[in-house]
Amino acid sequence: MADQETDSALPRLNDSVALLPGIGPKRAALLSKLGIVTLRDLLFHLPRAYEDRRTITPIDSVEEGQTVTILGEVVSARNVRLRGRMSLAAVTVRDDSGRMNVTFFGRGFLANTTFRPGVRAFFTGEVGAYNGPCLKNPEYETMTGDDEDRLHTGRVVPLYPLTEGVSHRQLRRWIHAELDRTAPALKETLPASLLEAHGFPPIHDALRRVHFPEDPAEAQAARTRFAYEELLAMQLAILQGRVTRLAEEKGYRHRINGPVLKGLGKALPFDLTPAQDRVISEVLADMASPRPMARLIQGDVGCGKTMVAIHAMAAAADGGYQTALMAPTEVLAEQHHLHLRDLLAPLGLNVALLTGTMRGAKALHASVARGGIHVLVGTQALFQEATLFHRLGLVIVDEQHRFGVLQRERLVAKGAHADVLHMTATPIPRTLAITVYGGMDVSVIDALPPGRLPVKTRRIPPSKVAGMYDYIRREAEAGRQTYIICPLIEESETRDDLTALLSHYEALSDGPLAGLRTALLHGRLDPGEKEDIMRSFKAGRVDVLFSTTVIEVGVDVPAATTMVIEDAAQFGLTQLHQLRGRVGRGKDQAHCFLLGKPKTKDGAKRLDILCRHDSGFEIAEADLEMRGPGEFRGVRQAGLSDLRVADLIRDVRLLDRARRDAEAILQADPRLEDPTHRMLKETGEHPDHLRL
Ligand code: ADP
Ligand code: MG
Repeated sequence: MADQETDSALPRLNDSVALLPGIGPKRAALLSKLGIVTLRDLLFHLPRAYEDRRTITPIDSVEEGQTVTILGEVVSARNVRLRGRMSLAAVTVRDDSGRMNVTFFGRGFLANTTFRPGVRAFFTGEVGAYNGPCLKNPEYETMTGDDEDRLHTGRVVPLYPLTEGVSHRQLRRWIHAELDRTAPALKETLPASLLEAHGFPPIHDALRRVHFPEDPAEAQAARTRFAYEELLAMQLAILQGRVTRLAEEKGYRHRINGPVLKGLGKALPFDLTPAQDRVISEVLADMASPRPMARLIQGDVGCGKTMVAIHAMAAAADGGYQTALMAPTEVLAEQHHLHLRDLLAPLGLNVALLTGTMRGAKALHASVARGGIHVLVGTQALFQEATLFHRLGLVIVDEQHRFGVLQRERLVAKGAHADVLHMTATPIPRTLAITVYGGMDVSVIDALPPGRLPVKTRRIPPSKVAGMYDYIRREAEAGRQTYIICPLIEESETRDDLTALLSHYEALSDGPLAGLRTALLHGRLDPGEKEDIMRSFKAGRVDVLFSTTVIEVGVDVPAATTMVIEDAAQFGLTQLHQLRGRVGRGKDQAHCFLLGKPKTKDGAKRLDILCRHDSGFEIAEADLEMRGPGEFRGVRQAGLSDLRVADLIRDVRLLDRARRDAEAILQADPRLEDPTHRMLKETGEHPDHLRL
């Protein structure tokens, strides 16, 4: 560790802050709430913002409401007793242009100590009015001979994350002192080549500048260095995990030209798109190699990801391996089951469904364990201890952002060296995907099957609703189907403003949609019922399907052309995009109708974005901008909220650079054994060392 070699006269970076003058056990406890335990923590407690207090305003030109810094000489100071035990320091200061009053409530003693007549001081605060312009409780700093050491005012001043009982003033003083005393013990963490390539300041300069910059640009440059360093450490860790996996060579070598795969090719009712062809080759190449596959297929709803997965299953079956397909909801699992059975049963494969609520699971478990089932489809129930596979060779996780990292790991653990394929329609920007999905390889399907028309999306005001029902009726007469989505199943007392599914279904089936074949789908039905309903809808025996968002992900009915979303502003943007993705899967023009009056500005903005964009990527970017990255499911689970300096959205370019540098570093030095990489290695092994 760095400390062992440091000059023994220097304080140790890992010494407790409680050893500093002015910090006793009580303050140390407060500081630990900020994550500050050691001197290193203190040094790396970086400002969250800065205030530019360089411009000094002449007293005669301050204006009420402005935040100003003045430099004045104390003319007089009185310690005024207030009611109770309160006191106040009433200070009058002057500069060449005029005089002004400065008051400090509760700190009358300052009049007897700090602000003696003749003392010169900086004051920064908001200008108030009381017998003319005045400053109440400003930050201040008396001028000493040494202008360099000004910390609180008259310069660009750091603002820190605080906790009750710890002030900016205190942190500035402590940090400033330790920059001189302790910081010299810090070793440079980045290789000189990287510092040079990116023009980053060395660690000591960077640390000083990030706390006490000459100007805001200097602070920014220093912060960038630390953000980069943090991202680089993260990328190195992720890539090293990946290198370890790839070096394992204990995976299965799947057969990729067997009869099932060939049969599938002949049985498909359409040609694969070039994007599908490319991704299928990538997947099959992974499967044929002895290294365990960890690949993510990313592509907008309806782009044909499932078709790629089916090819992988066929290849697994050719070599006598089983596939487990995990879906986030029962409805989706059921749909996959039906779809896979249609395609794979004629090729001689047994496809079965396992869900949490199912009867007959025991017999199914036995069959899976004997190897009688080739493809097992299910939800989380696939994790149950009871599910033992005969030869699990391939795990496919659909819409994987819905699963926690842990769940994923558990499933993978069932097949020790199984190949793993993830599919997601969450259109996370590519650079973000790299971090969220860690060490996976990413394949993108970037084109829809030919002949698809973008869904036309419109908001429907109350005056047009009747016309919309006529339209749905005409579509039904032409053999085209409609979804109507409601935010709730039943009326709710707390949300009586929202449309409830059950009553809406009844009202419309007996009213505007009378005579059409309608059906209801929601999460409270048992799996058998749900399956029947989905089957009827898919077969065209239902014209209008009323549903909750259980159909949000992946449900695929090409003849469905109309999506009606009640109280649309209730839903998130990504969710709305997913819902809309249920239509427009065939050759006919599809429509998405958004109902309800948004109650918030954001709600209105979401609907507006949805009407203007069809691409999931654009929508994800817009969503990200509106809500920030914290809202991305999976991002938190991946532990990315641990980042202390970097911000994945703001620093997305920096992330890209860190990723490329990490790749180059590991390419040249996979185990970080080179002396110039020593500190990188330590940072990676003890990430809390960096404490950024
Ligand atoms: P995703 O899983 O990406 O949402 P699916 O694999 O479910 O998409 O495919 C959506 C629909 O498009 C399905 O009806 C599927 O049969 C159809 N499809 C997939 N690939 C093609 C293709 N190459 N040409 C025509 N239709 C396709
Ligand atoms: Mg799908």
